Amino acid sequence: MRSYFLVIVLLVLAACSPEQKESEAGNKPHVVATTGMLYDAVINIAGNKMTAEAIMGPGVDPHLYKATQGDLAKFNKADLIIYNGILLEGKMSEILKKLGRQKPTLAAAESVPKEILKSAIGYEDAYDPHVWFDVTRWKYAVKAISHAIIELDTVNQEYYTANTKKYFTQLDSLHNYFKQRIKEIPEKQRILVTAHDAFVYFGDAYGIRVEALQGISTVADFGLKDIAEIIDLIIENDIKAIFVETSVSEKSINAVVQGCKEKGHNVKVGGYLYSDAMGELGTEEGTYIGMFSSNVETIVNALK
Ligand code: ZN
Repeated sequence: MRSYFLVIVLLVLAACSPEQKESEAGNKPHVVATTGMLYDAVINIAGNKMTAEAIMGPGVDPHLYKATQGDLAKFNKADLIIYNGILLEGKMSEILKKLGRQKPTLAAAESVPKEILKSAIGYEDAYDPHVWFDVTRWKYAVKAISHAIIELDTVNQEYYTANTKKYFTQLDSLHNYFKQRIKEIPEKQRILVTAHDAFVYFGDAYGIRVEALQGISTVADFGLKDIAEIIDLIIENDIKAIFVETSVSEKSINAVVQGCKEKGHNVKVGGYLYSDAMGELGTEEGTYIGMFSSNVETIVNALK
């Protein structure tokens, strides 16, 4: 199974080199995506027919991110802007809305049918934006990206459609593979504790209970009551590990480790999970498939 996963990742890495040479760029349409996950979908579909760049790199928290002057310049020269939506980019929503009146703009995650979105606990009439952590839900966003790309360059429709089909095949294999991997964790210990609530869709899709110290946005601070509850839950279920995220402060997770210790239970930090940002471009974790696979590997190895 492990080698199968590597084959998928290598195929993806081979298919999309993120650094497109300036000279090759020419007059190709240019796509600007906010997050790495969206950017990755764009380059998988657009291939060598378009250029693309992401606004937010590794370790960047989209809930808190404010657009810089440089970002505005990037948005202005884009032929197509793709963002997650569902208020993920909370501090950029005004700018994105305004840009939407000027040029083709897509809130890709808003293409996921409302019936399969989870509501955001603590936020009235709002939904959880972290849809990329269920491959099945994310495919709706990818499909919408594919449509937007085709609309921008209809001449190459066949090429984009073929790329989308190929990418979907990889995503489907990944989905089934993840389901199998999570089953390796003993049922009682299938509990994922993280700092912020980015993994609700992941839990729903792959069969693991998720508990977080912060809500679905990192804007709100965590309360002490949550920590006490989570400590009890960890001890009660004999959970071996909890997880930090690459784009969120480790403070709250370290407080839980310390709290468990004081009650005589040793819980370790099981590793870093990519939640709202991917790894460095050009590495395995700098792709959607690579970062997602890395998360599953980290979770399964620490909890089983
Ligand atoms: Zn988040």
